[in-house]
Amino acid sequence: MAIKVIKDQCVSCGACVSTCPFGAIIMESDNKAFITEACTACGACIDACPVGAIIREEEEKTAAADKDQYKGVWVFIEQVGGQARGVGLELLGEGRKLADALGQELAGVIIGDKVEHLAKEAFACGADKVYLVEGPEYKHYNTDAYTIAFTDLIQTYKPSVVLLGATNDGRDLGPRVACRVGTGLTADCTGLGIDEQTGLVAWTRPAFGGNIMATILCPDHRPQMGTVRPKVFKRPVPDYSRTGEIIRVPSKVKPEDIRTKLIDIIQVCTASCNLEEAEIIVSGGRGMCAPENFRLVEELAEVLGGAVGASRAAVDAGWKPALHQVGQTGKTVGPKIYFACGISGAIQHLAGMSSSDVIIAINKDPDAPIFKVADFGIVGDVLEVLPILTEEFRKIKQ
Ligand code: FAD
Repeated sequence: MAIKVIKDQCVSCGACVSTCPFGAIIMESDNKAFITEACTACGACIDACPVGAIIREEEEKTAAADKDQYKGVWVFIEQVGGQARGVGLELLGEGRKLADALGQELAGVIIGDKVEHLAKEAFACGADKVYLVEGPEYKHYNTDAYTIAFTDLIQTYKPSVVLLGATNDGRDLGPRVACRVGTGLTADCTGLGIDEQTGLVAWTRPAFGGNIMATILCPDHRPQMGTVRPKVFKRPVPDYSRTGEIIRVPSKVKPEDIRTKLIDIIQVCTASCNLEEAEIIVSGGRGMCAPENFRLVEELAEVLGGAVGASRAAVDAGWKPALHQVGQTGKTVGPKIYFACGISGAIQHLAGMSSSDVIIAINKDPDAPIFKVADFGIVGDVLEVLPILTEEFRKIKQ
């Protein structure tokens, strides 16, 4: 909801200018208050204005009748280089459950260049339909092009629910599209369901630093939108006998719509930091004792063909970059095997890895909380245990 100055009523006192915590109000040449783009709509100026000359503009609500026109559950199938990222397929599995509960169709949205082959995968994972937008302008993710394409799809076909992965691209795209179609978005969800009373999607996500789980409903606007963390849901077992309808939608993007130019792609993330897709993760914590000891974690990960994770304590100490962090404020992972090396098992760490199939913990403290969630525990010094494990796995591999 935007904040607006009623110019005729403004008495030029400047109270709003000094009150605004964001410095978002200036006095214009006519000596009337003017709200700049820095406004966050916090409303402090409304309370400060002595003559009620500042008001909150009511945004147009989706008319109740309009809501009936919105049907279907959509999942954005994010792709990189023509390969579907895992999260889109995971969301198809969950989207299928929502669609069945609502008695509606499940559709995948695929945007890219020469990506029609992904439709087969979407159908195998539960989609009834695929909306396909193709063109060279979509070869690599581009904020402007993807936003225009996705917004156009929603405005044309009117889905009731839209799910995106809480990946870098999904977090960029989701809120922009939501804003353009005039709805809200629940970010970073860890649970989805249907609210029994209202029949709305119940979006669950951690709030207040992870101390509570908040369940959010979107009663007034359509579509209901949210981003969901990768690896929260299991990928459905594909059924390649399933087929569906492909709806090809022409691209509406014009060259002048794209404000950025991709000059080069510099690969900073190697296999070792592709935590979301990894089947094996070896993570180290403060118990690694020194940054150079992370080499032991990396060696085990390399032998097993896995990725390297880290606790926040290890990241905060500067031992590993933040893109390796697992947990509530890091990545949510769900590998087949998760090694926790010198990690105590704080609740914020568990929030990001407890859905791993098998957890193996190495800790010198037999009472460390990590052992409560571990399937296998080794009580010992990581600096001694890790080289032995690596050596043994190396022998098996040879
Ligand atoms: P510690 O808790 O210090 O544990 C080190 C462990 O290593 C101990 O159990 C010790 O017994 C063991 N150890 C020591 N030496 C050895 C040795 N030689 N051999 C074997 N074991 C040894 N944390 C995260 O990880 N991810 C997050 O995303 C995250 N988000 C957070 C968000 C918020 C809002 C807050 C408040 C905290 C968050 N934290 C997060 C921090 C979290 O609370 C813990 O502080 C952190 O996970 C501890 O990291 P650690 O287990 O590596 O260190």
